[in-house]
Amino acid sequence: MSSTASTLSNLHHDSLYDKLRPIAEARMMLKQIGIDPFGTAMENILSPTEAIINGQHTILVGTNNYLGLTFDADALAAAHETLDALGTGTTGSRMANGSFTLHRRLEMDFAAFYGVRDCILFSTGYLANLGVLSALGSAQDVIVLDADCHASIYDGCKLGGAEVIRFRHNDPEDLDKRLRRLKSRARNAVIVVEGLYSMLGDVAPLAEIVAVKQRYGSCLVVDEAHSLGIYGATGRGVAQAQQCEDGVDFTVGTFSKSLGATGGFCVSQREELDLIRYASRPYIFTASPVPSVVASTRVTLQKLAAGKHLRANLFARAEQLHQGLLALGYQPAADVSPVIAINIKGRLNALNFWNKLLAAGAYCNLVLPPATPSGDPLLRISLSAAHNAEQIDAVLQMFADLYPDYAQACASASA
Ligand code: PMP
Repeated sequence: MSSTASTLSNLHHDSLYDKLRPIAEARMMLKQIGIDPFGTAMENILSPTEAIINGQHTILVGTNNYLGLTFDADALAAAHETLDALGTGTTGSRMANGSFTLHRRLEMDFAAFYGVRDCILFSTGYLANLGVLSALGSAQDVIVLDADCHASIYDGCKLGGAEVIRFRHNDPEDLDKRLRRLKSRARNAVIVVEGLYSMLGDVAPLAEIVAVKQRYGSCLVVDEAHSLGIYGATGRGVAQAQQCEDGVDFTVGTFSKSLGATGGFCVSQREELDLIRYASRPYIFTASPVPSVVASTRVTLQKLAAGKHLRANLFARAEQLHQGLLALGYQPAADVSPVIAINIKGRLNALNFWNKLLAAGAYCNLVLPPATPSGDPLLRISLSAAHNAEQIDAVLQMFADLYPDYAQACASASA
């Protein structure tokens, strides 16, 4: 018996594990067709845009490495130096073990970069959302969030126990309606949105959302995970680009995309931010960021701030790919941005398309329902400032060769 089949039969008799049965079935389906996008191994990383996968040279278009800084020589040097000086890890939380001076330095760097009072570092962006939202939204509070918000935002709401109300994605009028219904509670409601949405690559109408928030006197948290380094004159994100930063109470972000590392942060002008540190279980009860990562992030943050040329290159490549895909007959899910998503009808069609693209030499993300906002599977491409025009041309050629598969998936869905 195959291991998945034996897992299934074990599950059958055991009620505790029954809930894992749909996962086991989905895993078995992937095994049977011999395609496992969630087990892809990068055998070697050659650069921010190239890896060896299945023994083959592959162009990476699914990394979130938006500014291509993972091999930046200065960031590597800072990380190496700090690794030698301070060791491999902090081995505990800042509350218990104490902070490294470097943690506080990076917090001050982020605060200065955003021009605000303070910053708290978290060990990941996921934990930043958990920490901030659970501290702001306790059982008697209400959090009003965009329906397409990331899982970490939903999980942060759960951890705090607030009532959760969703408004229609990127729809300030619907947000307004939900706040109106809350009557006097709207004044203490926490609104949560993202800057650039990670799945479809669409941008929030943040200035309009800020205007709604200000009418009700609510609190606004913006997760700029995917927009940090990409939007705004100095890369602070969509709020900077739409000139509405003063209306944002808390900005959350991650080191794991444009900053090329792992970690999270929250910045704010509000005095209360420091108290969140003491009210946030995901800050208190987990090990603090690794010093070499903090050191490399201090460097990449500087490069990000001065990275106008990187943003220009990133958008040039995004434009090139977006226009090229449109010309081939594909329908990207949103306007031009560094995230380009293409819906492919049918799970099997999407798996096959993704697999053929990988075999042709390009790696992107395959996202399957229920993780997709539209309910259809999607191919998610994220671009990097480190991509060159030739790489994008090569990817477009692969999409051209695979167009019949896409057309067939569209046709079978509408039949
Ligand atoms: N927020 C958003 C919008 C994200 O997309 C992600 C990760 N993809 C996170 C937060 C979590 O970031 P991290 O990888 O640093 O945990």
